Amino acid sequence: MKLPKCWSCKYVFKYRELFVLSFFPFKRNTCPNCGKRQHLAKNINWKINFLPLPIVFIPLVLNIFNVPWLSIGIIIIIALALYFAILPYQLKFSNKDHGLF
Ligand SMILES: [Zn+2]
Repeated sequence: MKLPKCWSCKYVFKYRELFVLSFFPFKRNTCPNCGKRQHLAKNINWKINFLPLPIVFIPLVLNIFNVPWLSIGIIIIIALALYFAILPYQLKFSNKDHGLF
């Protein structure tokens, strides 16, 4: 897994910079090196939107197997933490604004 680069100067973004961005996808993101505006590339939008979908089904599936709700809650928290941990690696920037969908 590689961290995304600036489309203009190829500056490799730091994990911390991207981690904040994964919580606020509408936040203005500029390259700290060249100051150019970074837009999320078109092909990665579906990853951001659909990657967390399986998390929704975890409680439904686990409920079938009579897993206690406390355990289901813990599993969901872990799954969400994992999602946000790998999200920065899934990002990719371009110079064009494609919108979120
Ligand atoms: Zn740059």
